[in-house]
Amino acid sequence: MTRSGNSIVETIARLGAAELLEVIQGAGGRVSPVGRGTAARIVITLPRGAFAPVAQAIMERAVELKWQLLQLLGREPLAGWPADVMPPLWWDEMVTGFGSALIEARRSVCGNCRYPVAVCWLRRVPGQRRRVRTWSCPRCGRRCEGS
Ligand SMILES: [Zn+2]
Repeated sequence: MTRSGNSIVETIARLGAAELLEVIQGAGGRVSPVGRGTAARIVITLPRGAFAPVAQAIMERAVELKWQLLQLLGREPLAGWPADVMPPLWWDEMVTGFGSALIEARRSVCGNCRYPVAVCWLRRVPGQRRRVRTWSCPRCGRRCEGS
């Protein structure tokens, strides 16, 4: 790969979600949300003839920023998630780990990291058959007061 090709790839790997969206749309590509909530996905269409290493870098970055891109396109990562708050970078891991245990989100300031959203999930408690609704910070994991 050429030197300039390398630097484009490195630049793409550092783009934020809004910048990446701009690059894709500016090149004539499309980012389309499919599905809702924790089951949402994005479908990316790049223009024909896109330089393969650049196309690959765009796709890899889009995978990393999936939930941030969805948020920019108006798809909330979880019911009740405020439209003006970006999901944390590891939201995808939360969704993978907690799956259907994630119920809803609400505006709430974390007492530890100040993140402005809390998520409700169903927690297993030893000795109890029913799972307990628990509110936690999706960024640092701290449990909200009284939950
Ligand atoms: Zn927190």
